[in-house]
Amino acid sequence: MKVEIIAVGTELLTPDFQDTNSLRLTAGLNSIGLKVSFKTIVGDDERDLTRVLRTALGRSRLVLCMGGLGPTEDDRTRETLAKILRRKLVFHKEIRARVRERFKRRGLPMSASNLKQCYVPEGAEILDNPNGTAPGLWLETKRYTIVLLPGPPQEILPMFESQVLPRLTGSGRGLTVRRIIRLTGLGESAMETRLKDVYAAAPAGVTITTLASPGDLSIRLTMSGKISRLAAVALLDGLEGMIGKALGPWIYSRNGESLEEIVGALLRDRSMTIACAESCSGGLLGHRLTDVPGSSDYFLESAVVYSNRAKTRRLGVPAALIEKHGAVSAQVARAMALGIRKTSGADIGIAVTGIAGPGGGTPRKPVGLVYAAIARGRGTKVLRNLFFGGRAQVKFQSSQKALDLVRKTLAPTPGKVL
Ligand code: ATP
Ligand code: MG
Repeated sequence: MKVEIIAVGTELLTPDFQDTNSLRLTAGLNSIGLKVSFKTIVGDDERDLTRVLRTALGRSRLVLCMGGLGPTEDDRTRETLAKILRRKLVFHKEIRARVRERFKRRGLPMSASNLKQCYVPEGAEILDNPNGTAPGLWLETKRYTIVLLPGPPQEILPMFESQVLPRLTGSGRGLTVRRIIRLTGLGESAMETRLKDVYAAAPAGVTITTLASPGDLSIRLTMSGKISRLAAVALLDGLEGMIGKALGPWIYSRNGESLEEIVGALLRDRSMTIACAESCSGGLLGHRLTDVPGSSDYFLESAVVYSNRAKTRRLGVPAALIEKHGAVSAQVARAMALGIRKTSGADIGIAVTGIAGPGGGTPRKPVGLVYAAIARGRGTKVLRNLFFGGRAQVKFQSSQKALDLVRKTLAPTPGKVL
């Protein structure tokens, strides 16, 4: 979980002032096990602040932003955040009452400029500031939590200790946070064996359940209890890290996405296109790839080339090659992948050929024997698989293997496939 601190104030960019607050905040965060990944100092400039906040919200789970909550014209943190999040600023009478009270105690009338401090982005919670007029704000969404705090050390430090840290460690209401990690390419018992240390390390309140079907496995982490969302996320991050170490090469998604979604995202990120040649999967590859909204950005076509003649006529697989090695062979799978890549003009061609059963198997080529191939540029890779299960399961596993071949080819992992 990335944590980030932003200090706002033009004076902090001069030789005369230092951002000492962030050191104190960092010490507090460290004390509850949170590390700070980024710190930024930005002047009282709306455009610069917008840029800094946008960047922070795009990369960090917790953003602590201090300064610029005052009553003067150059204090624009509150307004800038509301604009970025497209949230209305809502007037809070309670803040006005509190500010008025502060002025009254000192025998002064409340100045009109302080009214600015009574506006709060919709949905934000107010953090009381006993030592100043500017209240702090706590805004939590599913993706991030952002906390705005005043700049003066005598104001922010007590608020941080008494209101922010307790919320981060979580003493509040109960909640449940889930995460689904999905895998393919290994068996259930192999997965369970590798998960032993993870089960042992799971803290109280976390349940780990696994689900397995041929070709697809998932690990579900659930954290329930009286804990803050951030603390729960940090806990699940820790477990996810352990699971990653134990099962990294087989994990295709860490947020429950399907393999076709992951492959689609990889292709889109790289501006690449794909086409499929399908024999025993009978169109399932094309079906799965096009199940993802927006797949027209990268998916060109899928040819269901079931007969030998179709393989030759549509993809240019030499009849002699089929004659020599059989339609279910590494050579034909490779030729199919190259053929569909060439005829479609896609960056990547994938192909599947196999024996889905229940009939058609021989001792040398049993039911469940499936070759999956990928062609990218002139490089190719073919995998020989022996799948268990009925016809539907063999078809699914064939498509899964071909998609995973694309994932492994495109994902920037050390063991590059091509
Ligand atoms: P507020 O959020 O309360 O409105 P502000 O930005 O309006 O704060 P300033 O007048 O800019 O307040 O600063 C008030 C004092 O707090 C100044 O002395 C300033 O140097 C100090 N201060 C602001 N930010 C920090 C920081 N990150 N570290 C240390 N001191 C700070
Ligand atoms: Mg300031």
